[in-house]
Amino acid sequence: MVDVVVVGSGPNGLAAAATMARAGLEVRVLEANDTIGGGARTLDLGLAPGLVHDICSAVHPMAVASPFLAEFDLRARGVRLAVPEASYGQPLDGGRAGIAYRSLERTAEELGADGVAWHRFFAPLVREAELFTELGLGDRRSVPDGLLSAHGLAAVAGLVERLLEQGTPAWNLRFSGDVAPALLTGVAAHAISPMPSLTAAGTSLMLGTLAHSVGWPIPVGGTGSITAALAEDVRAHGGVIETDRRIVDWRELPRARSYLFDTTPATLVQIWGERMQPAVRAGLVRFRYGDAAAKVDFVLSGAVPWADPRLAAAGTVHVGGSRGDMARAEAQVARGVLPERPMVLFSDPVVADPSREVGGLRPAWSYAHVPAGSTADVAEAVTAQIERFAPGFRDLVVVARCVPAAQMQQHNENYVRGDIAAGVVSAWGMVARPRLALDPYAAGIPGVYLCSASTGPGPGVHGMGGWHAARRALAARFGIMRPPALGPTG
Ligand SMILES: Cc1cc2nc3c(=O)[nH]c(=O)nc-3n(C[C@H](O)[C@H](O)[C@H](O)COP(=O)(O)OP(=O)(O)OC[C@H]3O[C@@H](n4cnc5c(N)ncnc54)[C@H](O)[C@@H]3O)c2cc1C
Repeated sequence: MVDVVVVGSGPNGLAAAATMARAGLEVRVLEANDTIGGGARTLDLGLAPGLVHDICSAVHPMAVASPFLAEFDLRARGVRLAVPEASYGQPLDGGRAGIAYRSLERTAEELGADGVAWHRFFAPLVREAELFTELGLGDRRSVPDGLLSAHGLAAVAGLVERLLEQGTPAWNLRFSGDVAPALLTGVAAHAISPMPSLTAAGTSLMLGTLAHSVGWPIPVGGTGSITAALAEDVRAHGGVIETDRRIVDWRELPRARSYLFDTTPATLVQIWGERMQPAVRAGLVRFRYGDAAAKVDFVLSGAVPWADPRLAAAGTVHVGGSRGDMARAEAQVARGVLPERPMVLFSDPVVADPSREVGGLRPAWSYAHVPAGSTADVAEAVTAQIERFAPGFRDLVVVARCVPAAQMQQHNENYVRGDIAAGVVSAWGMVARPRLALDPYAAGIPGVYLCSASTGPGPGVHGMGGWHAARRALAARFGIMRPPALGPTG
């Protein structure tokens, strides 16, 4: 008998485990894979000697913004988050590009005629970045204190106004040229949803605001350093982490007073079956998964020769062309069609972390949006998209290795048919994630909770799902109303 069992060691599972262990409870983490970290792992894929790749997440604005990780204090634990000067870039045909620098002023200056409109759009959001982050990474059930004032309500009104503008056919009214709209659409596309939509617009407001406030950092040495720090803290507080422990049935679980699942709702239902309250079970069975990503890991023999050399400073590049090109590609994905020119997200970590280059070779990270369950190898389509804006790129490719969407589940069963968000990202889905309930983390069995990215606040390496669920479990199961301190000396 232990106090707490956590199934899954992604950032949310480890955040839950660290919170519970720090509350003085005996914690055991069971992970299906032979490596910990879930979507936050850095591995040697055997593509080139000494080179490591981020197999899922690579760029971490939410790790800096996360109230949980801020209190956990990654920096004090030796995790270095290198912030590139340019958060993201958007190449366009004709050798042009838009660049979103951390500095809003510089971004606006370089956007020319649309610079003022860009500045007007983001300045009020950046001023209130902390409040919006608290709202965006909250549990969708509580209201941040800062919101309950005339100032807070006015700030939210500004947010809603921008959401309605960019999430509807009015989205083209603000800008006169084609660079600024494309730059904003590249960020919106992180939602993997048709555009314009409130979901995509909400994503662009959140990630776009972080780009001009905390920046879009890349962890030195790779994303795995974040989960390694969390795992170290779990162990330092007496927790035990076991790998190669895939749970498929509740009878395989050690006896415990509480269970937290860093899994999909479908896995939770499979494990507990008829033991769950029927209404909760039905709600979780209805949970929908979204469209997908196919990953392409590159080994390159040099820096990408972007036609616009300013892109060399960008930690992330959204490779999809114009706003119209990207909206078309995302609409095709939503219809189940594999786009010939897909939306591609690309990052060369060496831009922020020179230590990732080994023997003149560098690992590059990319993925393309594809329909759910696609079996397509998109290495050539991704290479062609980058070559379109960086002539000569193809000559630098030493290795290009694709993990099709249909195979994503093999290394992480949370990514159902390649859905890297672990559940469809929609306006309704973000409120009712994973189901409409006062306590969305409760799994319909006393002491059992869901804590993965399939719960609020949703995808990203922030640990907030794990933290929200753990605090509920502490209160309801152990009578611990005050959450433990999370800092290195806590
Ligand atoms: C290709 C890709 C790119 C991404 N890029 C970014 C990015 O740049 N920035 C960002 O912030 N986010 C990014 N994400 C999203 C981010 O990785 C996830 O949202 C985040 O990892 C979710 O954390 P989690 O703890 O909920 O689940 P996961 O990280 O998915 O971890 C779940 C863990 O649970 C384990 N598990 C599942 N079922 C069982 C079971 N039955 N028994 C035992 N163990 C089980 C899994 O093996 C896994 O280790 C990306 C994801 C992918 C796939």
